[in-house]
Amino acid sequence: MSVFHLKYRPQRVCELDLPDVSEKLKKLLEAKEIPQTWLFAGPKGCGKTSAARIVARAINCLKPQGVEPCNECLNCKEILKGNSLDILEIDAASNRGIDDVRSLKEGAYLSPSRLKKKVMIIDEVHMLTREAFNALLKLLEEPPKDLFLILCTTDEEKIPDTVLSRLSRVNFTRGKEADLMSSLKKIIDGEKIKIEPAAIKLLISRSDGSFRNIQRSFNEVFLEVGKNISVKDMSEFLEKSGEYQGEEIEKDLMKNSGKEILNKLQKLAIMGANFGTLREKWVDYFQKKLLSFYGVGEKSTEGLNMVEVIRWLSLLIEAGKKEKLTELSQLPLQLAVVEFLGEKKVIVIEPKVADVEPKREEPKITKRSNDKVSLEEVEKKWSQVLAAVKPYNHSVEAFLRAARPEKIKDGVLVLGVFYKFHKERLEENKNRKIVNAGLAEVLGDEIEFECLLTENKKVITRESTAAGVTTGKTDEGEINEIAERIFS
Ligand SMILES: [Zn+2]
Repeated sequence: MSVFHLKYRPQRVCELDLPDVSEKLKKLLEAKEIPQTWLFAGPKGCGKTSAARIVARAINCLKPQGVEPCNECLNCKEILKGNSLDILEIDAASNRGIDDVRSLKEGAYLSPSRLKKKVMIIDEVHMLTREAFNALLKLLEEPPKDLFLILCTTDEEKIPDTVLSRLSRVNFTRGKEADLMSSLKKIIDGEKIKIEPAAIKLLISRSDGSFRNIQRSFNEVFLEVGKNISVKDMSEFLEKSGEYQGEEIEKDLMKNSGKEILNKLQKLAIMGANFGTLREKWVDYFQKKLLSFYGVGEKSTEGLNMVEVIRWLSLLIEAGKKEKLTELSQLPLQLAVVEFLGEKKVIVIEPKVADVEPKREEPKITKRSNDKVSLEEVEKKWSQVLAAVKPYNHSVEAFLRAARPEKIKDGVLVLGVFYKFHKERLEENKNRKIVNAGLAEVLGDEIEFECLLTENKKVITRESTAAGVTTGKTDEGEINEIAERIFS
């Protein structure tokens, strides 16, 4: 069985997931003189490599259709197979020195062996050393006429300005909801999957905007659930597979269950998890824990002791530095775990909290006494509440995002929710605590809440124009509408 993100990889300029990128590439390829040196800048998994390969075919195609490669001629086929000598893909992360760039340059001055043009795609180009960049600069200043260079980066800040100024730039971004949706739509149609629009929305709300990651996640859901996917299926799937909370890793570290932790990280990798984000979440969790030893914030008595927390935090920071040096994105965290558990056996010092005499400070929430919270205030600060809840638990945040503050009745905030499943989850004790904490943090006052099942009413004012464009919608309305249009 083929893998979605490979099977549905865009093969033409117009098929690229980001409309802005399609537009820009079209313009560059239509130009009288196609630029020879390009920069593809943007986050991982947003189509830079796919786009670079399409460009390689477009400029080599024997029967191009406008700017599009035919994908059928000898040249296109050779490139598609990935065995053309004239298309070179180089990973700068592992070939970053001046010698590597020198041999690359030597190759660059040789004419193409069979194709019309030679194309060099240098991935993660920001990893090159300064000397290597200087060597590359000369090539960029005066590239041989048969050579095209496409430099790809996830971190253009690290590229010298002298290099940047020689490149025609194409900006890749994380996918917007509508882009991610149409990307999934291709798979849904292609595989004849029946899926509730809300299930897709849920998956998108939990994604990091990377097309590759969301396609991988969708692949996993499909393998587990099959061709009929409901909201409930999706929620359950996301709940058990996409998360690894600070609390959970702490428990696992306490249990010394290295095997279990490495396994969980391995599974997350298959899901296309973003380990940078995961690591940040853990740093955030353990930093709060560290402060708690000094009486800042909520005191937690269970879990790792102070010495262990300090060590684990510094290992997490180290792991962050290794993130860009490895192809296996889960590896830095796995190394941190192995190192920590290896050391933990010899850490026997108990935290001497009494010796440290921490100053016990009140939690940061400044309580206000008399004036009560109004619905207007809750509505105004709703996005802040979401942001406050998110570090604790992503799914609670996602459920809240789908809810709306409806009214305040007898001092209780009533949230309108559209799905019974969401209501049940939000009202679970541990989740309720998280929401309460988020509300208190933002509003400066403790307020209880309850969930009310409401109709998924269309608050959208439809002013359809002849072109089918609608205006005056809320964001939520817009995404609902797109979902309905695509999947009805
Ligand atoms: Zn062709």
